[in-house]
Amino acid sequence: MKKIIIIGGGIAGLTAGIFAQLNGFQSQILEKHHTVGGECTGWDRKGYHIDGCIHWLVGTKEGTSLRKLWDKVGALDGVEIYHPESFMAVEYQDVTVHFYRDLELLKNSWIEISPADENVIAEFCQDIKKLQSFEVPSGKPLDLMNILEKVKFYFSLRHVGPVINKYNKITISELADRFKHPALRYAIASFVPEGNYSALPIIFPLGTFTGGQSSIPIGGSRKLALRMQNRYLELGGTLKTSCEIKQLEIEQGKVSQVTADNGEIFAGDYFITACDAKVLYEGLLDGKYPDPEFETRYNNPADYPLASNIYLGIAYQDKIESIPRTLKFAVENLDIKENNKPLDFLQMTHYNYEPDFAPEGCTVITFAINQYEPELAKWEDLVKDKPAYNREKNRIGQAVISAMERRFPEMQGKLELLDVATPQTYQRYCNAYRGAFMAFWPTLQGKELSHSGKINGLDNIWLSGQWLQPPGGLPTALITGKDTIMRICKLEKQDFNM
Ligand SMILES: Cc1cc2nc3c(=O)[nH]c(=O)nc-3n(C[C@H](O)[C@H](O)[C@H](O)COP(=O)(O)OP(=O)(O)OC[C@H]3O[C@@H](n4cnc5c(N)ncnc54)[C@H](O)[C@@H]3O)c2cc1C
Repeated sequence: MKKIIIIGGGIAGLTAGIFAQLNGFQSQILEKHHTVGGECTGWDRKGYHIDGCIHWLVGTKEGTSLRKLWDKVGALDGVEIYHPESFMAVEYQDVTVHFYRDLELLKNSWIEISPADENVIAEFCQDIKKLQSFEVPSGKPLDLMNILEKVKFYFSLRHVGPVINKYNKITISELADRFKHPALRYAIASFVPEGNYSALPIIFPLGTFTGGQSSIPIGGSRKLALRMQNRYLELGGTLKTSCEIKQLEIEQGKVSQVTADNGEIFAGDYFITACDAKVLYEGLLDGKYPDPEFETRYNNPADYPLASNIYLGIAYQDKIESIPRTLKFAVENLDIKENNKPLDFLQMTHYNYEPDFAPEGCTVITFAINQYEPELAKWEDLVKDKPAYNREKNRIGQAVISAMERRFPEMQGKLELLDVATPQTYQRYCNAYRGAFMAFWPTLQGKELSHSGKINGLDNIWLSGQWLQPPGGLPTALITGKDTIMRICKLEKQDFNM
């Protein structure tokens, strides 16, 4: 039986492990952290659970091919799915813009805010509607398709292709400027920062969300990853945690073994690096097997920016009844920057639908503050001075609590800071380059990437995970983990067993 060594126990690594076992390989997952999940995780503080990932999961809709894949890897086994009423609500002065799941409701509520924008709202909603039934391709990867399959694949994109192209060619600010009402402009523009970021990150999530394809599995991110771990172990896979791979042994164009930080050696026939691309190319491969696609992107952060975030967990000693699950509200003088500009809003998410995340009568709230290239560099410097780094985390935490109390006076005295994660937290725990929580962010100048994961010059090792198909996300990790095993099956001249 051939052996596959998988470096990284995030969603891509776990998926690769499960499909390796299902296809008759012997596999072993080696994970740096003490637990699996990678960036799909959550952590406990003072009796509260902070979910560190899933705000929406594409593929929760029964019957879709992605849902079947999530089911196959045990991610959603027996899990209740929570369908929030709105993706997000954005306050602008005395107006609240709701991104409702019900597209008719969204449309009518926006027209009520701004009758003068009726036509542009209708066009926007029509474009969202076209994406509602779009299923993220999760069958065969392009490099394994024959000509006929490729023709069929491109034909299947004929309705959504034009919409995706349309929003890929305009910036989010250009999209926002089509609306006359400042509240609608503000709500749309707040999705990504000003600049050359494309409008795709607004239209795609709204398509899947309003189409009922993306919701939230109850229990959250950590439980999802642990269910996948169970599936993997039940299938006979072996997992070693707290095992960081530091070195690859290469002989005649093949990897023969890998060495962990404690000196332990793992040999195999095939190797899958289900971790950050930079860790692979510049760390494990020591820059000796560069990939032009990735080089281009790392050398041009203006067109291929990375994003991370500051992620705060806050305890609220009361229940939340009437605040939308995810809300953006205006703040002043916060002294926190996002893409080099003072932050003028905060985005909160509360988990009143997850009673197990907080003690009886209480609620956990998270805040995500996006951080882009300028801030990522700042965090890299700051972490070198641990006391200053911790002071900054605490300062941000207290500033957010004060802003929260100003917006919701009834919360005064009932909020407590639980935890502040920074881009450096993701770097430290997940080996995420610059703390990136997704792959390269889409911009107008940046070209799309769909990579097979093959390492030029090496025959038996692949990259897998979110970096193969920016901007990444959980479905990409899932699909690419499966795809990598499909490629190995092809090399072994055996049918892939789904
Ligand atoms: C705050 C936040 C919110 C998010 N929200 C969503 C969301 O709502 N929906 C969504 O779809 N996505 C979301 N994402 C993105 C999603 O979490 C990632 O896209 C996905 O988890 C990436 O999975 P992966 O397996 O490709 O990589 P990772 O999760 O990065 O896994 C890589 C694994 O490899 C391990 N590793 C690295 N180097 C080594 C080494 N040398 N040796 C051994 N192990 C190693 C790491 O520890 C890690 O466990 C969010 C991410 C964050 C941080």
